[in-house]
Amino acid sequence: MNSIKSLKAIGEYIYLTFPIRRLLLLILLVLSIFPGFFIFQLPLNLRFVYAYIYISVTCLSAYCTMGVFKDPIIMGVASAIFGRKYALKEYKNPGLEDIITKMGIRKHIEIYETSNPWVKGPFTNALSCKIYIPVAWLKRFPPKEILSIIAHELAHVKRRKSFAMEIIVVMSAVLASSVVLEMRTLLVVVDIFEFALLMLFLTYFSRRNESQADMEGARATGPEGLISVFEQLKEDDVRDFGSETHPKLSDRIKALYKMLNESEPLTRR
Ligand SMILES: [Zn+2]
Repeated sequence: MNSIKSLKAIGEYIYLTFPIRRLLLLILLVLSIFPGFFIFQLPLNLRFVYAYIYISVTCLSAYCTMGVFKDPIIMGVASAIFGRKYALKEYKNPGLEDIITKMGIRKHIEIYETSNPWVKGPFTNALSCKIYIPVAWLKRFPPKEILSIIAHELAHVKRRKSFAMEIIVVMSAVLASSVVLEMRTLLVVVDIFEFALLMLFLTYFSRRNESQADMEGARATGPEGLISVFEQLKEDDVRDFGSETHPKLSDRIKALYKMLNESEPLTRR
């Protein structure tokens, strides 16, 4: 766990933190729309200043974004190639059926334990709907907390079609919004505008999808298990900036506590 912690710290140092990366994308968006829109009306010297700033922010933003996604991509590919030698074992827990029924999932879901060292955390294969839990997590967290994690993953299975629809709508919206810009500016500015807008939208929808999966899973298991898991994970990630895909652990904990407090009067009744 310490190696993950130091890798994360190095990543934050080299590729900046999530709030700064998001700010860079916002700056790119503003620069694409305002000076970018009027680029041909700007005096020549101002065009050079604009180009210099624009290229610098673009390079920095592209470098950080690629850096952030490089590691998960390498891990995914390495896991698919070298992970075959690690046998999968079906995960069994007597409370599982009850949760699947409570969540209204009729489809048979396969849940596996994996000792593949490339798999650093629980994940759901969106195509096959199979859920994988690393053995290291099974050793670290008690079964009740593992059930809460699985309920979160089951919520991803349940929401996968609506999430895919959101992504299609986002992509169409980005393409549609760049049409006007295309008529008024350079093609490269349009491409950068599309990149920044797409990244900002995907970040928003991915983080929202995670929060919704937290809530949906917690409705089936109660929020206590996930709160405990996130509090332990937060100890490994004290700076807790969140990422392009996941909200800050402290925000997720806060939302689950809110749910816990709201459900308390009902349980006392
Ligand atoms: Zn998730």
